[in-house]
Amino acid sequence: MAMNLSLWEKKRYERMKSGFVSIIGKPNVGKSTLLNAIINQKLSIISRKPQTTRKRVLGIYNGEDSQIIFLDTPGIIDPEYLLHKKMFDYIINSIKESDEILFVVDCYDYNLFKLELNEKITKTLHELAIPLLLVINKIDLLENRNTTLKIINDIKEYKLFNEIIPISAKSKDNVLELVNIVKGYLPEHSRYFDDDNISDASTKFFVSEIIREKIFMLFHDEIPYSSEVIVDEYKERKRGKDYIAVTLYVERESQKKIIIGKGGVSLKRIGERSREEIEKFIGKSVYLKIFVTVKENWRNEENALKSFGY
Ligand code: GDP
Ligand code: MG
Repeated sequence: MAMNLSLWEKKRYERMKSGFVSIIGKPNVGKSTLLNAIINQKLSIISRKPQTTRKRVLGIYNGEDSQIIFLDTPGIIDPEYLLHKKMFDYIINSIKESDEILFVVDCYDYNLFKLELNEKITKTLHELAIPLLLVINKIDLLENRNTTLKIINDIKEYKLFNEIIPISAKSKDNVLELVNIVKGYLPEHSRYFDDDNISDASTKFFVSEIIREKIFMLFHDEIPYSSEVIVDEYKERKRGKDYIAVTLYVERESQKKIIIGKGGVSLKRIGERSREEIEKFIGKSVYLKIFVTVKENWRNEENALKSFGY
């Protein structure tokens, strides 16, 4: 990189736009898919089952003249468990630290936005004067453009949103345009992070997300929801494989039996699939050791949730 910046380069640098953008919305509308489409790397766990994103995932988009830091949030749901209440607090907290909000809806039930944008959220947004952009996702599923236009016109009447942007996160349709619109609402600010940062979340976190995703793929009913994955140890080794030790917590002895499977086959499958993806993610071989432990009722216990970082 040349040391002498031209005047034009200096100007451009000064006009750098950077800021924090929260992605909020109901479970399953495609928030994680959108984040991944923008960041171009698989950062946030994706699943057909709702509520797989329990913690905020930070993804950083580095443009030439911009840096957008995305906060992925758990889906908005009515608090039922203590865990859900904590998830809702995360949403409110990430809104408060944001320069802009992307509110994502599915093109098939976009009418729900009135319910989903509950009072507490709208009030917070209004008080802090944060731009609110409505993203209508999955338009690849709509038959034609007219349907999309009709949806946009319907919603415009409510005058709630600074922008209404139809996209398909899956086929990346209109995603670049969305990024440009997002940039437009950011304040002028220098980069918050070095531009080779894709995420500030640790490799440990990605490892646990990958394993949780495999559990969601391999098991049904309550098992995935009753599981939590904690990486106890991650030893990087210059020569040879990295060593990763993980504890997989479930809520009951019966679930532990299912997770391990006859002669350990199920656990072996979780291990193999996770290892493959972890290796792809970090680009080197790993030795993955998974221990299964019962922690009764962890979803409803303040102490357990705290020790898991919620
Ligand atoms: P989240 O819970 O809001 O984070 O949703 P996910 O990103 O996990 O996506 C939920 C499901 O919707 C997954 O099966 C995605 O593949 C699917 N999905 C996401 N975006 C699109 C899209 O633009 N079009 C279609 N057809 N499916 C999508
Ligand atoms: Mg998600």
